Amino acid sequence: MSIDLETCERTTCTECNCRVPVATTNDGVCETCTVLAAIPDDKNPFYLFQGTNTELLSRIVKGTLSATYLAKHELANRGFDADGKWVGFEQAAKIHGVTK
Ligand SMILES: [Zn+2]
Repeated sequence: MSIDLETCERTTCTECNCRVPVATTNDGVCETCTVLAAIPDDKNPFYLFQGTNTELLSRIVKGTLSATYLAKHELANRGFDADGKWVGFEQAAKIHGVTK
């Protein structure tokens, strides 16, 4: 049996205002918000750009600034590979293909 998401009863998530089937809510909060609420703020992706300048966010959205490249650059500056393992600054720069 499949659920017809277009006709089944939906509610609005009280956190993000998305429309979700009633069965997937937890006290009016969608599954995504329920999961994210359990994540510490420093690991919560919704807070990643909270302190970021609006112009920089606009450039990311328009594709003129790569958030991925900046993340690679930061990992290289910390000496970590893509898994967050310490490999040293030079090796990390090579792995991520960034220059200082
Ligand atoms: Zn939500």
